[in-house]
Amino acid sequence: MIDLHTHTNKSDGTDSPRELVNKAIAQGLTVLGITDHDTTSGWEEAAQTLRGNLALALGSEISCLTEDGISVHMLGLLFDAKHAGIQEMLEETRDGRLPRMRKMIAKMQSAGIDISMDDVEAARPEGATLGRPHLADALVNKGIINSRDEAFQGMLNNESEFYVSHAAPTPAEAIAMIRRAGGVAVIAHPFASRRGVILQASDFQELVTAGLNGIEVDHRDQNPDEREMLRQIARELDLVITGSSDYHGSGKLNSLAEFHTDPSQWEKLESHADKRRVVRA
Ligand code: AMP
Ligand code: ZN
Ligand code: FE
Ligand code: FE
Repeated sequence: MIDLHTHTNKSDGTDSPRELVNKAIAQGLTVLGITDHDTTSGWEEAAQTLRGNLALALGSEISCLTEDGISVHMLGLLFDAKHAGIQEMLEETRDGRLPRMRKMIAKMQSAGIDISMDDVEAARPEGATLGRPHLADALVNKGIINSRDEAFQGMLNNESEFYVSHAAPTPAEAIAMIRRAGGVAVIAHPFASRRGVILQASDFQELVTAGLNGIEVDHRDQNPDEREMLRQIARELDLVITGSSDYHGSGKLNSLAEFHTDPSQWEKLESHADKRRVVRA
């Protein structure tokens, strides 16, 4: 089983990289992609934990914004973590997440919600890329809401009055950087309409021109119709089709490998990296 999109506590997942790799081994996965938001800081621990037949496709899920302000997530896999350009891009986005969180908290405080930056910092694992899920955890800790899921259905949704975006590259910029760093770019859950405004089918050609390699089709946030439309776009543009869990430990309902990628699609995707960078024990 091949699962190319998961998170650890280096961003908003709840398992450490070690715990996640151990779970993947226990479940008999053949390839595990670790794609923490805007960071590669979990790669080393994951690689050190590796044993047996599991292979690691290390990467990152890069938060992007289109010029129209639509939020897009770009999975970069198999790139060179030592590439200065991509590390700069990831760092800039991480830096932008702090003032963004302060703005969201200020909006909540103005609405009379008892939440502070200290509460959020207390909920964030050390060194983790700061995100709305940590704010959700802080709200849960204070008894204001019951779960992350409840937060994302209401006050932390992209359409909420409290939502603030952060500085981020455009999808085309992220794709170009991932490719320059030797990796492959797969657009994550592009038609996940329940999260907010999404791209249109006509937006994909430009991303292909920038170097896009694949589309995440099978994902729990995309309904069967949305998946079918994406499968069609992928066929037309000769893009790799992936499926993945977007596992976040106990932070989300998604279970590891609940959706997966066909081995022949993975083989095609891997062949587009500039070197064989899959990590094996
Ligand atoms: P941010 O990166 O701060 O904009 O927060 C977005 C993150 O929240 C995404 O990476 C999602 O994984 C996470 N998220 C979105 N919806 C939910 C949900 N219903 N439950 C838990 N986490 C979610
Ligand atoms: Zn996440
Ligand atoms: Fe995502
Ligand atoms: Fe994700």
